[in-house]
Amino acid sequence: MLLARLNDGPEIFFTLQGEGVSAGLPAVFVRASRCNLHCRWCDTDHTWNFEGTPWPHEKDADPAYRKHKKEDVTIEANPADIVAQVAAFPCRRVVLTGGEPLLQQEAWLELIEGLRAIDPAYIFEVETNGTKAPTPEFRAAVNQFNVSPKLANSGMEARLRTVPAVIEGFVADPKAWFKFVSCGPEDVAEILDFTTKFAIPPQRVLVMPEGRTAAELDRHAPDVVACCLLYGWRFCDRLHVRLWGDRRGV
Ligand code: SF4
Repeated sequence: MLLARLNDGPEIFFTLQGEGVSAGLPAVFVRASRCNLHCRWCDTDHTWNFEGTPWPHEKDADPAYRKHKKEDVTIEANPADIVAQVAAFPCRRVVLTGGEPLLQQEAWLELIEGLRAIDPAYIFEVETNGTKAPTPEFRAAVNQFNVSPKLANSGMEARLRTVPAVIEGFVADPKAWFKFVSCGPEDVAEILDFTTKFAIPPQRVLVMPEGRTAAELDRHAPDVVACCLLYGWRFCDRLHVRLWGDRRGV
């Protein structure tokens, strides 16, 4: 499987889940490389913004920013080897993230089976952009889907970032939660349209303020609080940003 590389190995780290309904819980993160979307503000652009690709990114405005050399930021890994690495952490909650992890479901299944052979109590969360459908086997193996549909501010065309049949499948699955990032009223209006169109119950919707620093989170938080009070959504902070800022591997 192709994972993101951190230093000499795959990007696997033990931390607190920073977002979603499990926010605050200890978890081991395993980050896949590659994504089928290319959001212009993506904070894990090292998973897809490789040299030679045409995708724009907001960091292009920084003269020091360079697209990533693929060999510097990716690593081929055998799921069996990853089992041992993940099992070494004193934690039974694992977050499969990316990039878009649903591009590599077969390999994740090997990892999940390997870890559950060690301890059936393992819990697996998957963070997905909601455009790729889980196979029945993968859906059955996963405990929780953190579905994060992308809005117009991602810069992605609507037909690419919203795949109705896939969203409908997640709405029908009680394991799926829907989380959105909001920068302000335009995003709130879009979230409302989206959740209304797909009949997503408000209690399964989480909205987070946008921000890569605590100050930015604080600036956007009051609007998010107001819309949660109005529409019955759950306010969600971004704990990892508050604790560690915009750093990798934490
Ligand atoms: S879907 Fe997620 S990982 Fe993929 S480009 Fe967008 S923000 Fe980044």
